[in-house]
Amino acid sequence: MLDIQYIRSHPDIVKKAVADKLLNSDIDRLLEVDRRIRETTAAVDRLRAERNKLSRNMSGEARTAREAAGVRGRAIKTKLAALEEGLAGLKREYDGLMLTVPSIPAPEVPLGKGEADNVEIRRWGTLPRFDFAPRDHMAIAEGLDLVDVPRAVKFAGSRSYFLKNEGVLLEMAICRFVLDQLIAKGFTPVTVPLMVKESAMLGTGYFPLGYEQAYRIPEDELFLIGTSEVSLVSYHRNEVLNLEELPRRYAGYSTCFRREAGTYGKDTRGLYRVHQFQKVEQVVIGRADDAEAERLHYEILGNTEAILQALELPYRVALACTGEIGLGQVRKHEVETWMPSRNGYCETHSCSTLNDFQARRSGIRYRDEDGTLRYVYTLNNTGIASPRILIPLLEIYQNEDGSVTVPRVLRPYLNQREKIGPK
Ligand code: AMP
Repeated sequence: MLDIQYIRSHPDIVKKAVADKLLNSDIDRLLEVDRRIRETTAAVDRLRAERNKLSRNMSGEARTAREAAGVRGRAIKTKLAALEEGLAGLKREYDGLMLTVPSIPAPEVPLGKGEADNVEIRRWGTLPRFDFAPRDHMAIAEGLDLVDVPRAVKFAGSRSYFLKNEGVLLEMAICRFVLDQLIAKGFTPVTVPLMVKESAMLGTGYFPLGYEQAYRIPEDELFLIGTSEVSLVSYHRNEVLNLEELPRRYAGYSTCFRREAGTYGKDTRGLYRVHQFQKVEQVVIGRADDAEAERLHYEILGNTEAILQALELPYRVALACTGEIGLGQVRKHEVETWMPSRNGYCETHSCSTLNDFQARRSGIRYRDEDGTLRYVYTLNNTGIASPRILIPLLEIYQNEDGSVTVPRVLRPYLNQREKIGPK
């Protein structure tokens, strides 16, 4: 959501953002509704003032004057009722339209329509070379009894899975390792509500556009979160934060639920695209300062790169183009880790700056040095998401005998085990 003053004075910039982000927000209609709200409000105010004046002057007037005032008063009442009803309708339409207005991409965001237009920024690490026929993560995991997909699908449907044995321990080790890394960098670890009200989904910008992607619990009017970012941003809903406490850094640890609507037939093998996964998420809340937000963006991007480097997994960083950054994002980097079986770099992390887009929807403000109330800026980035990260991990660390070497930094979390071997 943007400031309506900004939309009024920069309609062309906002319309360009809508077009560049491949969205459908009707800015002309929004401005028309906005104008009609202001006109109608002024008319309502005028009529209310006239009505008040009439009732003040009633006493002491001659009977004929009182009768005339009564007639006029009734006419005003009817007119006011009609105007107020119209105004309520206009406000509902305005609120709905405002929720579809995107934030403006940062100047460096490349223009583009799809993934192919993202711009690679850098690569890190050396791609693995195997002197044996490497297996894909499912063959490795099934060989070590770390995963069971067929039994999960039998009763839970497609894109479901069991993790078993060291598969569970490995996932827990990775998440704990990442949490520890982030805690050392000043992040507060948080587990969050997984079921939230619609207002939290709207407030973080996942609704209305992402409605089809969320699981619903209609009896309780709740929704399952697709990321702990929803709960972590909503943590401060309708609060005024202290300037001295900004920026706030949170590391959310949660299960994430995604319907993956519209992805039928895509990434069907293995653990790449599932309905339920674990994620450590970085969420940062800062001052309304573009330069500081940019610095924080590169800070949380750096955290992710440090994690992948510690795990010794080759990756690349790409700057997402306008068509790929989404409604609220001002800038976004994708971090893609090398997945041998997919013969490519595939997304494992996504780092976004949203400026005040979420804060306006969620009512999160702070008082600036000069006493002015301002909306905070929010940012987020994946810390680690599993099981997707198990794909490069199992595939890159596999050995010819079917075992998997445990990455050095994870050994302290796995009783110093160096290998996960066949049973
Ligand atoms: P996002 O919040 O959509 O930017 O996703 C953050 C990260 O979560 C992605 O980079 C993936 O590592 C992981 N992820 C997202 N969706 C899925 C999914 N359906 N299955 C497995 N992992 C996912």
